[in-house]
Amino acid sequence: MCAGRIDLSFVLRAFSNGMDGVFIGACRLNECNYITHGNYHALNMVLLCRKIMEHIGLSPERLKIEFMSAGEGILFAEAMNEFSNRIKQLGPLGQKEGTDVNELRSKLQDVTKLVPYIKRVKREKLALHLGQEEEYDELFNRDEISRLFRDVISYYIDPDKCQACMICHKKCPVEAIGGGKNQIHVINQEKCIKCGTCLDACPPRFGAVKTISGGVVPPPIPEEERTIVRKSKKQ
Ligand code: SF4
Ligand code: SF4
Repeated sequence: MCAGRIDLSFVLRAFSNGMDGVFIGACRLNECNYITHGNYHALNMVLLCRKIMEHIGLSPERLKIEFMSAGEGILFAEAMNEFSNRIKQLGPLGQKEGTDVNELRSKLQDVTKLVPYIKRVKREKLALHLGQEEEYDELFNRDEISRLFRDVISYYIDPDKCQACMICHKKCPVEAIGGGKNQIHVINQEKCIKCGTCLDACPPRFGAVKTISGGVVPPPIPEEERTIVRKSKKQ
């Protein structure tokens, strides 16, 4: 019902599944039926996605958003005709780009895995409601997108600080955190989608979850060294 529901991952998935173009029709800005103004969110997401597409070598022209009301049938038909003609000119995915379609798909899948990270890092900009459409031209820029992918954040549990409270383990949405009662927890970097939930969840008094930006994550401590012996049990 609302363009604001369209997640960045939906658009990337459409391209990964072989769509040559994605068109998003949204209500006119400032005419949202809900207090959320989801069409602003859709616009911000599209602008971010277009820059990401440019970064991975996919023509940003393949993604379009238009604002119109449900009563503007003629405008909708014109917009769709114009978009479909442009997509026909660009040809199938990869043709205009001069890139192998499988290579593009693999890049799209890599970016899709990072969507929770991208949304977390860019959440403030994604939530912006600027006054005019023109003000959006520079909302996201190329350097910023290059940095976004160069300095990808990794999450790491400091074994000296982890108290095995299991909170992060329970909250991780993809079961990427290993550990149990009295066991120092470790993050499986292959499974981690970099959503940052563990960072928010780890109690500040422990502060065991650390972020590493663009660097190498230390290997997890060996299993035989993970047991925590509490003081009361030592006596
Ligand atoms: S950032 Fe933390 S909570 Fe999110 S997937 Fe990775 S380990 Fe799990
Ligand atoms: S929330 Fe923090 S202290 Fe608790 S198990 Fe996870 S990393 Fe360790």
